[in-house]
Amino acid sequence: MTTNGDRIIKIFDTTLRDGEQSPGCSMNLQEKMEVAQALIALNVDIIEAGFPIASPGDFEAVREIATAFRGPTTICGLARCNDADIDRCWEAVKHAAQPRIHVFLATSAIHREFKLKMTPDEIIHRAVAGVRRAVSYCDDVEFSPEDAARTELDFLCQVVEKAIDAGATTVNIPDTVGYATPAHMARVIATLRDRVPNIDKATISIHCHNDLGLAVANSLAAVEQGAGQIECTVNGIGERAGNCSLEEIVMAMRVRHDYFHCDTRINTQRLVPTSRLLTSVTGMAVQRNKAIVGRNAFAHEAGIHQDGMLKEPRTYEIMRPEDVGFSKTDLVLGKHSGRAALADRAKALGYQLTGEQLQRVFEEFKLLADKKKEVYDGDIAALIQQEIQQAGEDDNEWSLVSFELSSGTGRKPHVRLTLRRGGEEFCEELTDGDGPIDAGFLATKKITGLDLVCKDFRVRSATVGHDAIGEVTLEVEHKGQIYRGSGASTDTVEATIKAALNAVNRIGANKK
Ligand SMILES: [Zn+2]
Repeated sequence: MTTNGDRIIKIFDTTLRDGEQSPGCSMNLQEKMEVAQALIALNVDIIEAGFPIASPGDFEAVREIATAFRGPTTICGLARCNDADIDRCWEAVKHAAQPRIHVFLATSAIHREFKLKMTPDEIIHRAVAGVRRAVSYCDDVEFSPEDAARTELDFLCQVVEKAIDAGATTVNIPDTVGYATPAHMARVIATLRDRVPNIDKATISIHCHNDLGLAVANSLAAVEQGAGQIECTVNGIGERAGNCSLEEIVMAMRVRHDYFHCDTRINTQRLVPTSRLLTSVTGMAVQRNKAIVGRNAFAHEAGIHQDGMLKEPRTYEIMRPEDVGFSKTDLVLGKHSGRAALADRAKALGYQLTGEQLQRVFEEFKLLADKKKEVYDGDIAALIQQEIQQAGEDDNEWSLVSFELSSGTGRKPHVRLTLRRGGEEFCEELTDGDGPIDAGFLATKKITGLDLVCKDFRVRSATVGHDAIGEVTLEVEHKGQIYRGSGASTDTVEATIKAALNAVNRIGANKK
């Protein structure tokens, strides 16, 4: 509660867990640390950092995040309702100043019968045992009855009551498959508050998926009925159509404070920088007309609107662009700009660089400023992204040494490519492909010896002008799995090779 009696709704960010496990959004350790840092600057209450038993990489990321950030933010790990999962989760989060274990078990009839093959009694027994084990390690335990929105209400009430009895301090109600509607979700939460006798001993949380485009609306409906925590992700990334979008739900409560009488602790001026950071880390851009953080979210085109805006902004504007972190001016840097100016832009873009990182980015910045006169925010974001990516790579990973390429009308391109791995250099020369980009990709494939099928390929200009940095994002399929890679350079072929190597290194990391 705030002094004026408003409720403070906790923001539980699951970008690094639910978001990260969605196709094309996987991140390496360095990238996860960068996102965690941005979430802390955004002032989320809880970071769900991963699912420790899922892979050694997940475990390491949760442990690193729990160890590195010592502030008031709770660091949470996910676990299924079994001893091995919960033990592993605790091993990862126990280093946190404020650790939380989040255990889940499916409760809907369809999951009970087909996935778990368990009776309702067995489900309750398992849920209680899981919560008790988690409580034996940690005071802060969250329980989720997976697919709650499709669970019979009577049974849901029973499970929730038993979980709270066993010590759960937060009960999360997931709409795992994005099936609920706002009135339906409101009824579920109202019923729990009505019929579960010990419900006041726990915080009710809500976790909605966006399969019907209703995740934010459903979450708001739950808040109106007394939910005190919302699970959401930056840019709404997540399984399938994604999760409730953090920026949208936060601004809905902020702008319509007159109606909801609740608020969050979110530093809303960090919303746009955090959204941009996640976009450059995952290569997954938000649509132009995306609410709050899309490029057009505050663009007024119609003459009659522009006229009104000039007379009084509030005629057509329910919030100000600067409230969500759009900067009014796109500051341009050049070769005479110093380190302080670069550090300032990096911060405005959502990055927290160490002194060493800043130095390396500054060196790259100087080289770039020599090549092109004006360096824009997009260019800087691309440089920093490269630095983060490289810092996440180890010696056993592939990197580009050099390439030469010639191509022209009516002949196959010729490429000579040299790559390095573990101190050793590998060179390949070939005349093949339907263009220079294809040739670069084929040579990369040949040297690394991996079976790669390119599924998606996009080149985007990081900023304006013919001399802009080109950002290549591609998706390759390897043994039935999709891997994403991104690379940036003023040379598109070089960016392509870097993106392909980034994907190859992700395949390598996955094998480990
Ligand atoms: Zn989910």
